[in-house]
Amino acid sequence: MTTMDTRELLQKVGVNLELHDQLIAYNNKLFEATIRSAPNRPAAMEYFDSAFHASHSSRVGEILDYRTRGGKSIGTFCIYVPDEIALAAGVLPIPLCGGSHWPVDYADKMFPRDICPLIRSTFGMAFSETCPYKKLKDASVGETTCDVKKKAWDLLGFEVMEVPQKKAAVDRDLWLSEVIRFRSFVEKLSGITVTADRLKETIKLVNKRRRVLQTVNDFRRLPNPPISGLDALLVSQIALSQDIQIFISGCERLIEELHQRIKQGISAYQHAGPRILVAGTPSPMGNAKVHYALESSGLRVVADESCTGMRYYRDLVDESPADLDGMMKAIADRYFSIDCSCFSPNKERIENILRTIDEYDIDGVVHNILSFCHTYNVEAGIVDKALAKIEIPSLKIVTDYSFEDIEQLRVRIESFSELLKPVMT
Ligand code: SF4
Ligand code: SF4
Repeated sequence: MTTMDTRELLQKVGVNLELHDQLIAYNNKLFEATIRSAPNRPAAMEYFDSAFHASHSSRVGEILDYRTRGGKSIGTFCIYVPDEIALAAGVLPIPLCGGSHWPVDYADKMFPRDICPLIRSTFGMAFSETCPYKKLKDASVGETTCDVKKKAWDLLGFEVMEVPQKKAAVDRDLWLSEVIRFRSFVEKLSGITVTADRLKETIKLVNKRRRVLQTVNDFRRLPNPPISGLDALLVSQIALSQDIQIFISGCERLIEELHQRIKQGISAYQHAGPRILVAGTPSPMGNAKVHYALESSGLRVVADESCTGMRYYRDLVDESPADLDGMMKAIADRYFSIDCSCFSPNKERIENILRTIDEYDIDGVVHNILSFCHTYNVEAGIVDKALAKIEIPSLKIVTDYSFEDIEQLRVRIESFSELLKPVMT
C-alpha cells in the first residue's frame, strides 16, 4: 500500500489526518528508540515490526474490505470477550486497548485525569479522531473487571459482559450465562447462528494462536534465551490485532529461527543479566516502557505475567466436547480461569507466579502497574508476602505511558539489580 493509499484509507474511516500524523510520528519514534534499538534481534521479527505499523494502515484496509463485503466487527477490551464465539458467528473482534501516551490528554473531554493510562489512551485516541477503528465496528463490548471500565462503558453505552468478582460455583454459573448471552448478541449482529461445527473450528484456531505464543515464550526458559523480553512483548501485542492465520505463520517462522539460534548458540542478550518476571497490568501495543527500562539496564525479562503475556496464552479451551453446550461450558471455564486481580480472593495468581518463578529460573519480580490500577497495586502486597517466603526480591513500578520518569526508573532498577543474585558472565 502506498503512502497515498494509506492517507485516503484513513480519511475514509474518519481519521483526523493532521493529528494522526502527530500520533504516528510519536509512536514511530518511540518504537525505533525502544524495540527496534535492541541489538541482535531475530530476522523473523520483521513481520511483527511491520504489523506494528500495519495496525494504522494495511490492517485498517483489510477490515474495511471485510466490512464492505458485509462482514460484522466489534471493538473489544480486556481478554474476557471470547473470540471463539464472535468468530463462529462471523463477527471479527478488534482489540481497542490503547498503549500510546500521545492521545491521553484528549480523554479529558469526558474522563477525569486520575484514571489509568490504558483507558485514557484508548478514549484519547477515539476523541481525537485518531483511532482508525472507531467507524469500523458495529458495537463495542466491555466487561466489569474494574470500576473505571464499568463506568466508562455506562458513559459510552457499550455492551457489557458481567465478570463475577469471586470464583464460587454460583459465580461460574453467572459467567456461563454471560457467555451464552454474548453468543446471542453476536448471532443477532451477524444473523449467523453459531453451530457446533463452526465453534469447534474457531476453538481450534484460537487455541492454535495461544499454542504458538506458548512455544515462542518457552524459549525464554532457556539459560540463554534466543529472544528478548522486548521482542516477546511485541509478539504478544501483535497477537490480537492481526489476521489470526497470518499471525500464526509469522510465529512459525520466528519459532524456526529461534531453533536455529539455539543450535548456533545465539542469545538475544550480550550479557547474562538477572532473570526477571514482569508481573501485573498489561502493556498494550505502543507501551514497552518498563521492559525497555529493565533490558536497557542489563536485566533480562524472561517471563510476563500479564494479559500481554502468559495470562492470555497459558490456558487453552478444552477441545474435547462434541456438542454445542459442552463447547460453551469449555469456553466459559477457560475464561473463568483467568487470574485477573479483579477476583477476590485471587490465590490462583499467586500459585501461577510461584510456578513461573520455578519454571523460568527467576531471580527477581518486577511489578509493572499502570497508575491508578488499584487492584494490581494492592495485590502486589499479597504477591510480595509469597515472594518473601521463597526469598525472591521484588520491585514495584507504578507508572504511566510517558517517558518523563525514565531516569528515576533507571536509578531504582539499578538499586534493585544489586539485590539480585550474582550472575556468572
Ligand atoms: S488485567 Fe484483568 S482487566 Fe486488565 S486486561 Fe487483563 S483480565 Fe482484563
Ligand atoms: S489497567 Fe487496571 S485500572 Fe486500567 S483498565 Fe485495566 S484493570 Fe482497569
